[in-house]
Amino acid sequence: MIDESFTRGEVEDLTSLSKLDEQALLEELQARYQKNLIYTYIGDILIAVNPFRDLGIYEKETSEKYGHARKSDNPPHIFAMADIAYQNMLGIGNQTPQNQCILISGESGAGKTESTKLIMKQLMELCKSNSQLEQQIIQVNPLLEAFGNAQTLMNDNSTGLSDENKKALLLTDTKEFRYMHNSHEIVKNNMEVLQERYQKLCDAMDWVGFTDQEQLDVFKAMASILYIGNTTFVDNGNEELSVVQNKNSIEAATTLLSINYKEVMHALTSLNVFAAGEMVKRNYTMEKAEDARDAMAKAIYGRLFGWIVNKFNCLIAPIDPDHVNFKEIGILDIFGFEHFDDNSFEQACINLANEQLHFFFNQYVFKLEQEEYKKEGIDWKEIQFIDNRPLLNMFLEKPGLLSILDDESQFPKATDITLVDKLNETIGSTPYYVKSSTTHGYTFTIKHYAANVTYNTTNWLEKNRDTQPAEILEILKNSKNPLIRTIFNGQLTRTGSLALQGRSSVGRANKVRMAFNTTQVNRKEDKQRKLTVGAQFKHSLKVLMEKMNSAVPIFVRCLKPNHQRKPQLFDEKYILAQLQYTGVLETTKIRREGYAIRPTFAEFVNRYKILVCEWEMSETKENCLKILKKNDISGYQIGKTRVFLKYLQMEQLGDRITEV
Ligand code: ATP
Repeated sequence: MIDESFTRGEVEDLTSLSKLDEQALLEELQARYQKNLIYTYIGDILIAVNPFRDLGIYEKETSEKYGHARKSDNPPHIFAMADIAYQNMLGIGNQTPQNQCILISGESGAGKTESTKLIMKQLMELCKSNSQLEQQIIQVNPLLEAFGNAQTLMNDNSTGLSDENKKALLLTDTKEFRYMHNSHEIVKNNMEVLQERYQKLCDAMDWVGFTDQEQLDVFKAMASILYIGNTTFVDNGNEELSVVQNKNSIEAATTLLSINYKEVMHALTSLNVFAAGEMVKRNYTMEKAEDARDAMAKAIYGRLFGWIVNKFNCLIAPIDPDHVNFKEIGILDIFGFEHFDDNSFEQACINLANEQLHFFFNQYVFKLEQEEYKKEGIDWKEIQFIDNRPLLNMFLEKPGLLSILDDESQFPKATDITLVDKLNETIGSTPYYVKSSTTHGYTFTIKHYAANVTYNTTNWLEKNRDTQPAEILEILKNSKNPLIRTIFNGQLTRTGSLALQGRSSVGRANKVRMAFNTTQVNRKEDKQRKLTVGAQFKHSLKVLMEKMNSAVPIFVRCLKPNHQRKPQLFDEKYILAQLQYTGVLETTKIRREGYAIRPTFAEFVNRYKILVCEWEMSETKENCLKILKKNDISGYQIGKTRVFLKYLQMEQLGDRITEV
């Protein structure tokens, strides 16, 4: 056996390491990282270790080298994954064209968004023929990022705007906006930078086809959100009565939204209910009025963002998606696993989504593949993996964490503490749930695949209830502003050839909801029962899984080499933990022993009969063997209905076809 410790850092595919254990994997990745080789394959899976600095490895020449190339011709690279997706989608190399889904996973800060952008960039290079479309798609990312962070967007642009536009948006006086106060992300930029950014944003909006009126209306909606946020309430001596204190703000907001001021005042402070056969006005408490105000702002922002995403998707997918030949590449970049000192409902949703993605990976890489080997009766030694299905069930089944939360959210008297009591009582005995050892009873711990996370249930019930007041929605539906009317009426349909995932950093709650925005806009919400945030999230996950199950997955695993986000720092312990919880060792084993290519006898014979120059070949096992033997292919296995091949063997067969 070769002692690889002398040549560490030269193995491009971990499956070819002669000694396979955690230490060897770690040493190899570390040695490669030190040589600035951040990409490594595990068979068809790509590992990317975040360099936290520009390595100059995404230039034009690199892009050209990886375009329309064979995977084995070049060292591992994110561009190769884009190329594989592109070739598979088109069915290049005699394969059947299929939908592709590139799944990018990793902790927060591991490099998922950066990888997404690089894949998009390379895909654009690959389909260069349509330059207008290319430009439009290139503009999409900065636009989504800009709208993904409302605070920065409004901060930058309210200062850069022309006087005329400022007037139209009622932003002529310098005002303090409450919604922008708690932003950690606003950086004070000089006037020139802001003007340049504003111009770029307008250019990008032009490029993707927003009309001037639409652009103005988008900014009006954004400005209205700021004014809504400045609306304050007072108790009028009577606990049950709140009145709007800052009337100028609500006046500005309603003007911008072209809705009736009095109706909004009424809807933010009271509710009409049927009691004893007649309509009675119930005044809100101050707290409730504040909730209604924030819900109104969130509703406008959420719908606006959904509309923008939808507009992009319609624009870049001019072909009818139901057309049989329509194939697509989806790129999934969700929020990485989160584990803070204080974790709330948003972290639970984000971590649940990561669990679901982890489950999908396990299903695809371990479960289904090994089941197939068993069913086909090939020689195979089972590789064990940790199945997180029971944990997902604990979240998603009835009674499960989300259903208990929903039940409690229906009880007006329930509190964050009674919620924990119910959880303790109902799912407290499952192996993934740990009851709090402290006396204050509003926390619990979940043993996630990536780490144990303690959640604090403060405000969970309120966060879970969809507090969007029906009356406000009704008012917005009847706005005189065409954009507002559109986003609050009817059904927006998504027809995307590239599944774009909008991400926002406006606030954690928004982030969760927007991560799956493209699916939310599909729903006929108005005709449905009002769903809780948890139920909406569960539905979005389901839709996402259906989408993923209907495509061939391509996995990119991003690793974060240190907590400090520093270049050239490889924290072995931290990387090892990531390798362990993502099951990299087991993945390497299955990719080394396994067979990534599994054509049926019919597919195999039809694809490769050219190699034996026989055109009337029947689609049998014997004929598959004949083709393989005549071409000196070794290392394959033959099952009951399929041929089991590795990438190398498929490439060898491909080479023979080229020679023919
Ligand atoms: P989150 O889940 O929190 O959004 P993420 O996984 O999407 O995090 P990114 O925003 O993609 O993380 O990456 C964090 C930072 O790491 C980037 O801002 C960039 O500075 C750096 N980075 C990531 N990938 C690369 C790369 N390939 N080359 C250079 N720098 C990178």
